[in-house]
Amino acid sequence: MFVQGRGTAERTYDAIVVGSGISGGWAAKELTEKGLRTLVLERGRDVKHGDYPTAMKESWEFAGRNRLSTADLAQQEKQARTGYTTHPASAHWFVNDVENPYSEVQRFDWMRGYHVGGRSLLWGRQSYRWSDLDFEANAHDGHGVDWPIRYKDLSPWYDYVERFAGISGSRDGLPQLPDGQFLPPMQMNCLEEQVKGRIAKSFGGRAMIIGRTANLTQPHNGRGTCMYRNRCIRGCPFGAYFSSNSATLPAAYATGRLTLRPFSIVTELVYDPKTRRATGVRIRDAQTNETSEYFARVIFLCASAIASTFILLNSKSETFPNGFGNESGELGHNLMDHHFKVGANGLSEDFGDRFYKGQRPNGIYIPRFRNLDARSAQKDYVRGFGYQGSASRENWARGIKEMSAFGADLKADLIAPGPWRFGIGSWGECLPYHENRMYLSDTVKDKWGLPTVTFDCGWKTNELNMRKDMMNSAAEMCEAAGLKNVTPFDDVTNSAPGNCIHEMGTARMGRDPKTSVLNGWNQVHSALNVFVTDGACMASASCVNPSLTYMALTARACDRAVSEINRRNL
Ligand SMILES: Cc1cc2nc3c(=O)[nH]c(=O)nc-3n(C[C@H](O)[C@H](O)[C@H](O)COP(=O)(O)OP(=O)(O)OC[C@H]3O[C@@H](n4cnc5c(N)ncnc54)[C@H](O)[C@@H]3O)c2cc1C
Ligand code: SF4
Repeated sequence: MFVQGRGTAERTYDAIVVGSGISGGWAAKELTEKGLRTLVLERGRDVKHGDYPTAMKESWEFAGRNRLSTADLAQQEKQARTGYTTHPASAHWFVNDVENPYSEVQRFDWMRGYHVGGRSLLWGRQSYRWSDLDFEANAHDGHGVDWPIRYKDLSPWYDYVERFAGISGSRDGLPQLPDGQFLPPMQMNCLEEQVKGRIAKSFGGRAMIIGRTANLTQPHNGRGTCMYRNRCIRGCPFGAYFSSNSATLPAAYATGRLTLRPFSIVTELVYDPKTRRATGVRIRDAQTNETSEYFARVIFLCASAIASTFILLNSKSETFPNGFGNESGELGHNLMDHHFKVGANGLSEDFGDRFYKGQRPNGIYIPRFRNLDARSAQKDYVRGFGYQGSASRENWARGIKEMSAFGADLKADLIAPGPWRFGIGSWGECLPYHENRMYLSDTVKDKWGLPTVTFDCGWKTNELNMRKDMMNSAAEMCEAAGLKNVTPFDDVTNSAPGNCIHEMGTARMGRDPKTSVLNGWNQVHSALNVFVTDGACMASASCVNPSLTYMALTARACDRAVSEINRRNL
């Protein structure tokens, strides 16, 4: 049923933003603060800051101590693949793949959050800048297309978003991992400090730094300091990590220019071939299944890499028979993620009398050290990888495993902290391959009768060769750090594309409309009032976590949109 409801004028805004996650929240804040009456359309339910039902619960308050039964897990085979998105403490934030199906030619672990705030409520908060090593990578080795921007174009916008979001970290002077506008860093514990020193000594100054994270180490913009509870994935009532709900959406509401419509599934763009502009979007109400349209001068697609490209692919017209802005044929292609679940760990015999306070929601980071220059060049693969990890003391759970004693002896054993363990896991760059892709299936429909997504994406020789080095280098560093029982691991099966939840690249930026979908300002080449600023725009993947880059690109694109409106170009 098509319902126009109120008149066109009442459904017309200056700007429409699709999605309210990390990129949509930033678009809402920037556009409203720059004076545009902005409508945010979000497919999921509303979640106001503080509306986090499990944030203060203890593990024994959940059925199965926060674990699903094997029978329940079997019903959600895809969603269970991460090992944590089905936990009762946070499962209400993750999309149930049975209710929202998708198909796979090759395994793809698609982990979504359909609610106001999207995955900004769920993310691991690791926040790193890209460098020119990343922006020049495609031009350098010929994979994918050259980025139309360089670090200097984004550097002021990294400054801008870091200042507002609050990123804690140390300034380390590393060219491959530029410093930013950081809040004070979190501290390493004693074993991490020891490992850091030994790695630097054994590997010619190789860096190990504290993770740069969007958790606040001091009060910031009206939000509270992190209390090291490490329950961020449930939502933080103190606003101590950056999310749309705690930071960007309140800022947008404060302008009085934000309208947010939840339960609004944007299905396609409405296009006017005469003006060569999109005039608005068509939505399906998720509760009533009614269709209606909203109009605006500029439209920001921020629904995440897969969902924004879904909307583009689903927007077919005489001008765009293969999807909106898809003259290049690249829409849906060049799908990337990071490959991970490979590394090493070991035990330390030192610091038996030392402990740490709280549960720091952050670890250490070992920045990329391969293929930086001629000296670190590798013959078996291009690009590189970094490591995330931490040191901690084993806890009472080891007693359950070992059952070494009974009665009072068991109790005494459980209370005593176990040995120190240090572990690192690697995050590796994946190349942009044209054949790695998503496309729409008209045969499998969802409960609203809409087409669904099919994935066909896999790792290739470059990623597999890189993984050997990722594992061996991890073991080498653990050995050099003096750890015992060093255990390397490589779980390539469970590091399928999607599992790292850094999916990107399906509507890439580029200079040439014949080989890319978006220009250097995130505008669709052939419809300049449509901006796509989430992971879909990425022309390569780097090896660092991507969301800080989506924030910077979004803020930059909003600035461009408003100045183009003011110049009467849009
Ligand atoms: C457990 C976990 C850990 C992570 N750790 C990190 C990390 O440490 N560092 C990092 O950089 N990244 C991390 N990520 C990834 C990060 O969450 C994403 O990169 C980021 O959220 C993407 O932002 P986005 O705005 O593109 O999409 P999202 O945040 O997913 O938001 C998209 C929004 O659009 C809505 N939407 C979708 N389709 C439609 C439609 N058709 N109409 C209307 N609305 C729609 C969704 O409901 C959602 O609210 C992690 C993710 C998870 C889940
Ligand atoms: S660890 Fe910090 S940011 Fe995370 S939930 Fe606790 S107080 Fe909030």
